[in-house]
Amino acid sequence: MNLYEILHKKELTKEEIIFLLNLTDKSDQQKLFDRADEVRSIYCGDEVHLRGIIEFSNYCEQNCLYCGLREDNYKLTRYRMTPEEIIETAHVISNLGIYTIVLQSGEDNYYDTDLIAYIIYQIKQSTNAAITLSLGERGFDEYRTWKIAGADRYLLKHETASHKLYSVYHKKQKLEDRLSHLRFLKTNGYQIGSSNMIGLPMQTIEDISDDILLCKELDLDMAAFGPFIPSPDTPYQNKKAGDVDLTLRTMAAARIVLKKVYIPATTALATLDEAGRIKGLNAGANIVMLDLTPGHYRELYQIYTDKKCMSDNPLNYKDCFQLQIEALGRKISYSRSDSIKLTRQVTD
Ligand code: SAM
Ligand code: SF4
Repeated sequence: MNLYEILHKKELTKEEIIFLLNLTDKSDQQKLFDRADEVRSIYCGDEVHLRGIIEFSNYCEQNCLYCGLREDNYKLTRYRMTPEEIIETAHVISNLGIYTIVLQSGEDNYYDTDLIAYIIYQIKQSTNAAITLSLGERGFDEYRTWKIAGADRYLLKHETASHKLYSVYHKKQKLEDRLSHLRFLKTNGYQIGSSNMIGLPMQTIEDISDDILLCKELDLDMAAFGPFIPSPDTPYQNKKAGDVDLTLRTMAAARIVLKKVYIPATTALATLDEAGRIKGLNAGANIVMLDLTPGHYRELYQIYTDKKCMSDNPLNYKDCFQLQIEALGRKISYSRSDSIKLTRQVTD
């Protein structure tokens, strides 16, 4: 296969995506990253978009084999933030000039339909921020209520496009059910984010290629590809972490395939590689998620260990981060950053 031709094709086949994911020669890999960076610039512009995350509860009723928050992890100290704490933290984020607030938790039905609706409504009344929910699989009626209360987006990763692996990682649950939630959310006016983890046990390059094609089929607004990191006290604690270069190649190939989509340089990538965020931003990414959960809770949100956290003072972190972005010749966006599909007119 001819690398230059593939990098400049309008549509890529599964085999061509696999070819890109398998590139190991450093100079070929750099060509892939450079083309992804170019596609990102053409279709999405040069701004880096910030999302402020509040991880408001680490209770979870699920038992995903890879995750440190799984219900059966009795070693984890659990916490729940009060609605007032969540709303107050949202104000801190919006006062920093970050206009997307991501409310994330384990699947925790302690926060019922009305409580989540109340939190959304209060934040929307008092800030100009968009709200992304990342609460796992909840009821279809709840999604409807939260949309009416003011929620804008929902992040629910499909984790793997392999039906077989999905039911291994999620105790016999079905990928189709997960996908039905994503489709329902999209139909009901949410901007949706999804995608996979790179390096999960038993995953193949073919599976990752299917993940990218599934992101396309779902017509995602955001696609978050992050490496798997083994977490203590989980069934996968002794497994190998995902490969940083493969994660970067996946992000770059996805950028070329998906074009007008937000792709984050994930915290998981920054956890495995000090320079992970910058490498990600140079390989097609255009979002950075800042963890702005209050410090004493943040250290208990242990999806995996050694999570790369910002310093305790978000203001210092943001200034330092701004300098890094400017050094790349990019600038930070201080807008709500709604779906690129809705806001930019570039066509193929
Ligand atoms: N409970 C919600 C859900 O599952 O959608 C949101 C919180 S969950 C912790 C957010 C994401 O963390 C998951 O979608 C998964 O991709 C990621 N995650 C979980 N365990 C991980 C691990 N060991 N390494 C890397 N990412 C992980
Ligand atoms: Fe719970 Fe989400 Fe972790 Fe699964 S990935 S155990 S649903 S927090």
